[in-house]
Amino acid sequence: MMVRYNLHTHSFYCGHGSGRISEYCGRAAEKGFDALGFSEHIPFPDGRLSRSRMAFGTMPVYEADVRSQHVPFRLLLGYEVDYFPELDGYYEEVFGRVDYLIGGTHFITHPDGTLTSVFEPGLSKKDLGIYAGNTIKAMESGLFSFYAHPDVFLAARPFDDEAKAVSIAILDAAADLGMPFEINGNGIMQGRGYPSRDFWALAAERGIPALLSTDAHSVPNLDASFEAISEFAAGFGIDVLYPEDGLPLSFRTEQGRRMSPRLRSRDA
Ligand SMILES: [Zn+2]
Ligand SMILES: [Zn+2]
Repeated sequence: MMVRYNLHTHSFYCGHGSGRISEYCGRAAEKGFDALGFSEHIPFPDGRLSRSRMAFGTMPVYEADVRSQHVPFRLLLGYEVDYFPELDGYYEEVFGRVDYLIGGTHFITHPDGTLTSVFEPGLSKKDLGIYAGNTIKAMESGLFSFYAHPDVFLAARPFDDEAKAVSIAILDAAADLGMPFEINGNGIMQGRGYPSRDFWALAAERGIPALLSTDAHSVPNLDASFEAISEFAAGFGIDVLYPEDGLPLSFRTEQGRRMSPRLRSRDA
């Protein structure tokens, strides 16, 4: 039951990480993984955000690379997705040929279409409102098997009353939707404001469980933060979610509580 896994992994394909797919697979085999999932940042047909992800034309190469590995554990192919509602049909098409999609909000989309990175200091109350709205809309889309670093908006922002209200809105929506959240090891390794102790204290009060993800961008980081994320969860008494067999992805805690997000059909 105690599956050793990481479902949030980047490689050199993302353009800001290192390590080949085969090297991650070798590391996972060496470390006794039961399941490994690759989740490169999804590229867009119009080339938007191209500085932080692979080129659109590289998708088939990445997908074939993952699919062609021979490994002694369960290997899954996915993408981490910034949800722009107007691209819903595109995401659905991609979802139809991979194993899972992870939602992850990395940008505030302003009404005029411009974007602000969530890592920029000084996010306003209005920015936080947009972050929450986009994140909840993404969670409701039926595309995502879990949501990455829901507390990333706290990367460079203090936890004040506004941040608390946004945290509660997101946590309540996730609880309603049965959407699993992730505690992110990359944030721990980089000493950023997430995972946020304030955010996860609120999650713990609500009995919300969590996946543990390393969000590795280098081969050693595939498992380097395992202990730190486990301790983080244990410190709050947060139950850890483990992937169950089969697709679409579903999860179970050690105590047997299931979480299976409602996903749209992949046969469309
Ligand atoms: Zn991310
Ligand atoms: Zn990531």
